[in-house]
Amino acid sequence: MLQPVNVGSKSLADYTHIVGRDLAEELRALAEPLKGLRVAHLSATAFGGGVSEILYTLVPLMKDAGLDVEWQVIYGREEFFNATKLMHNALQGNPQDLSEEQWGVWEQYNQMNARELSPGWDVCIVHDPQPAALYSLVPEKSAGWIWRCHIDLSTPNPATMQRLLPYVRDYPESLFHMEQYVPSGMRGRANVVPPAIDPLAPKNMALSPEDAAYVCNQFGIDVDRQMICQVSRFDPWKDPLGVIDAYRLVKEEIGDVQLALVGSMASDDPEGWDFFNATLAHADGDPDIHILNNFNNVGAIEVNAFQSHADVVVQKSIREGFGLTVSEALWKGKPFIGGDVGGIPLQVDNGVSGYRVSDVDTCAARCIDILRDPALGKALGRRGKEHVREHFLTPRYLRDYLRLFGEIGS
Ligand code: UDP
Repeated sequence: MLQPVNVGSKSLADYTHIVGRDLAEELRALAEPLKGLRVAHLSATAFGGGVSEILYTLVPLMKDAGLDVEWQVIYGREEFFNATKLMHNALQGNPQDLSEEQWGVWEQYNQMNARELSPGWDVCIVHDPQPAALYSLVPEKSAGWIWRCHIDLSTPNPATMQRLLPYVRDYPESLFHMEQYVPSGMRGRANVVPPAIDPLAPKNMALSPEDAAYVCNQFGIDVDRQMICQVSRFDPWKDPLGVIDAYRLVKEEIGDVQLALVGSMASDDPEGWDFFNATLAHADGDPDIHILNNFNNVGAIEVNAFQSHADVVVQKSIREGFGLTVSEALWKGKPFIGGDVGGIPLQVDNGVSGYRVSDVDTCAARCIDILRDPALGKALGRRGKEHVREHFLTPRYLRDYLRLFGEIGS
């Protein structure tokens, strides 16, 4: 019932020229005593979202380091995913908690999966809340168990958090993006480890300016005029309406500027569609506002092209877990403006490697500064890229895991 995911192969050697020899050698040294370690990653889905994005890179690299790694997707049906979607939202602050029945469904599916999990793993890494009850439900706890939480637990619905806590607090090790996300009451060791992006994946690999312009042009962008871009789900927390307001202020000063809002949609997410339509309505037919989603065939390469071609990339979030799009933009050397929330301050040093803003007016003012002064934008972008190189590329993330595995084993 647990489905193994086929991840293909990747080679650590390909990353050396990007992250440097020191890290490459450190990885080799850390991996040496871990050869053959049997590691299971357990998650709720292999498609969409940050977790699968990360595992498609991390799992093959762990294998290349000599570990015996498998990624398995837990079994679940609609009733389970309805419950876990509510749980996800509640844990990030939504007032609606799960009903008693939904908590029952969640536990029942975790029980089924716990029964199915094969024994013999040295390390089991459980990703996010969906399968989080596995540890408390498996009879045999001899493996090193890790809960990897990818979401923002800083201001959860208290009832939901209290109900989840007994299932997660006894994990010997847990990982969070930021200190503020560690719930109180964890009994094991809570580690702060931010995620990372894969510089060689289609979304982040180097695209020539001509190729990026070619792709944007296919979507109706006038590549000879400046473009502001935000890549994000159509979600109120990502504030695309605020981005449109900021763009309008910029346009008063720089008449030919364009805006691209690039976002992915899930076909089974009616709220997402409502908000997408609200965003369209807010754009009010402005031909210089381009609103695109994955149903227009916007995939990884297209996201890459929009981020690479933009004159300024914005992520004007009001709430943000980590914000992979931030590192994605900075890695492309782009001047960046983001909301001063969640993981964005980790990634952007205000005024040095981009700007952090808390309102529409400041967002617009910083956009104008950058669009009028390309040298400023270039300097910000270059510093942003170096910050990402040092902190937010997958080999660093791999190192943190290998260190943890070494500590668990010793
Ligand atoms: N993304 C994408 N296509 C889109 C919009 C977003 O591939 O149209 C990707 C984006 O590049 C990033 C991820 O989805 O890798 C979003 O992660 P992030 O941490 O920024 O936000 P989340 O959606 O997890 O809140």
